[in-house]
Amino acid sequence: MDCRATFGRSQRRIEREAKMKIAFIGLGNMGGGMAANLVKAGHDVRAFDLSEAALAAAREAGCTTFTTAKEACATAEAVVSMLPNGAIVKQVYWDDVIGHAPEGAILLDCSTIDVATAREVISVTEAHNYQMVDAPVSGGIAAANGGTLTFMVGGTAEAFARAQPILAAMGKAVIHAGDAGNGQAAKICNNMLLAIHMIGTCEAFAMAEKLGLDAQTFFDISSVSSGQNWSMTSYCPVPGVGPVTPADNGYQGGFAAGLMLKDLKLAMEAARAAGAKVELGEHARAIYEAFAKDNAGTDFSGIIRTL
Ligand code: NAD
Repeated sequence: MDCRATFGRSQRRIEREAKMKIAFIGLGNMGGGMAANLVKAGHDVRAFDLSEAALAAAREAGCTTFTTAKEACATAEAVVSMLPNGAIVKQVYWDDVIGHAPEGAILLDCSTIDVATAREVISVTEAHNYQMVDAPVSGGIAAANGGTLTFMVGGTAEAFARAQPILAAMGKAVIHAGDAGNGQAAKICNNMLLAIHMIGTCEAFAMAEKLGLDAQTFFDISSVSSGQNWSMTSYCPVPGVGPVTPADNGYQGGFAAGLMLKDLKLAMEAARAAGAKVELGEHARAIYEAFAKDNAGTDFSGIIRTL
C-alpha cells in the first residue's frame, strides 16, 4: 500500500475534524471577517496585522494576536494570508513564514495578486517543504463577514485537499482550478469579463434612455432576452430597477472601482505575458482607469454616471 496516500487520507480526515492552529496575516476589510469565521468554526486563530486597530478587532472576534508575523506562524499547522498585493505577499512569505512556520504546514494565500508571483511563491515554499495554494476570492466585504465567499484554488490535489476544509469555514464554494497560480488566473479572467459586461450593460441602459425607452421596460425585455447577463439581473447599475444593488445606495458599498482597476491591471499583465489578445479587456482597463482617478471608492457600477 502507498503510505503517502494513507497519510494523505488520514491527514485530510484530521484537518476536517480537528480544530487547528491557524496563523492569519492581514486582517483588513476582508481578512478581519475571514479570521472571525475561522474562530467561529472552532479554530485557534493566531492573528497578525501591521495595524493596531485591526489587531484590536481581531481580539474582539476571539483571535489571539501577536506583535510579529513570525510569532503568529511559530506553531501554526496552517497559515492564511489576505494582503494588498504581490510584493507584500512575497515579502511576508520570504521574511516571516518560510523557516518560521513548522515544516509541512499548509499555506493559503487568499490575496488577489499576479499569476507569476503566485507561482513563484508556491514554488519557493514547496522547495522548503511546505504545501501551498493560491486561493483568491469572489465576493466582497459582506461575503467575507458572512462566510459566503467563493474560493478559486490553484495547487496540487494534495494541497487542495488540505486547504479545502479551512476555506470551507470561510466560504460557500471552494473550487479547484488546477495547478499553482490557476486560482489567480480564474479570478482575473472572471473579473475582466465582469468589467466588460458591466460597461456593456451601462452603455445599453444609457442608450435606451436616449432613445426614449424607459429603464424598467428595457430591463423587463433584456433580462429575458439575449442581452441578459449578471451585471443586469444581479447587479443592475440603474437605481430602482432589478434587485437592490449599490446603485440604490448612491453607488456606495459593493465592489470599489479602484479594486476593479487593480484586477484589470493584473489581467492585462497576465494577458501580455501569455500572449492573449484582450482588446475589450484593455479598453475596459482604460475606462476604469479614467473613472477611478476621482472615483476609486465608488462602486464599479457607478461607471454608468459617465455615460
Ligand atoms: P485592506 O487594505 O483592507 O487589508 C489589507 C490588510 O493587510 C491591512 O489591514 C494591512 O494593515 C495589512 N498588511 C499590509 N501589509 C502587511 C504586512 N506586511 N504584514 C501584515 N499585515 C499587512 O484590503 P482588503 O480589502 O481586505 O483586501 C485584501 C485582499 O483581498 C486584496 O488582495 C484585494 O484585492 C482582495 N479582495 C478584496 C475585495 C474587497 O471587496 N475588499 C474583494 C475580493 C478580493
